[in-house]
Amino acid sequence: MPHQQTIDPKGCADLILRSKRVVALTGAGISTAAGIPDFRGPQGLYVTRRYDPEAVFDISAFRRDPAPFYEFTRDFLGVIHDTEPTFTHRFLAERESRGKLTAVVTQNIDSLHQKAGSENVISVHGDYWTSHCQACRREFAFPQMEEMVREAPVPQCSCGGVIKPDIVFFGEAVHDLDRAASVVAASDLLLVLGSSLAVYPAAFLPEQASGDVVVVNKGDVGLPPQEGRYFVDADLDDFFRDVERLLTQA
Ligand code: ZN
Repeated sequence: MPHQQTIDPKGCADLILRSKRVVALTGAGISTAAGIPDFRGPQGLYVTRRYDPEAVFDISAFRRDPAPFYEFTRDFLGVIHDTEPTFTHRFLAERESRGKLTAVVTQNIDSLHQKAGSENVISVHGDYWTSHCQACRREFAFPQMEEMVREAPVPQCSCGGVIKPDIVFFGEAVHDLDRAASVVAASDLLLVLGSSLAVYPAAFLPEQASGDVVVVNKGDVGLPPQEGRYFVDADLDDFFRDVERLLTQA
């Protein structure tokens, strides 16, 4: 097996300068610095509030009784309401606005990429940005959902149907996987940020990349070493502050 290679902020900045179609694949680690705990981590809502993810995000349980999911949602939206995107979220939005980055593929449901100004966000596990009535398919935007969650135990459409955020539940297909795979395949640089790549489909996406891959994550990552793959065990915001400084000097 080839040796695991690393890269410093200068090397990463050079790769970004050389690239035309950067794509980012992000996981929980990009949002922990914003104060959103990794659901599965020791401070995650699953643990601190004793939510059982198998029950909260199970589609048949939701259809039987959506109240437990909305109890979780009320807590979660409370957490994300006052949460600002991190430096790294903004760094990615800035690269997109400069025409350097083509898409962000995220496993997160917190919508912080959209809040930071990213436009082409592919949320493979869905997110709260949009919701739909389960009966008439009417769409609801995030602010409407926030308000309804505050006002009723279970938000309902005027037609009487239950509203469900466009989050991928256990028992549902992941969103836009083909689109995610094709933007990754068309990228000339893939940045894998704050993901251990442990959860499907994230683990499968870097295998689609034909260009260089830079993985920045605290801790181990489930991606085998290969030529053109670089691994950085660092704080995301620290690392990308350095990268941005180098990019603006270039
Ligand atoms: Zn409806």
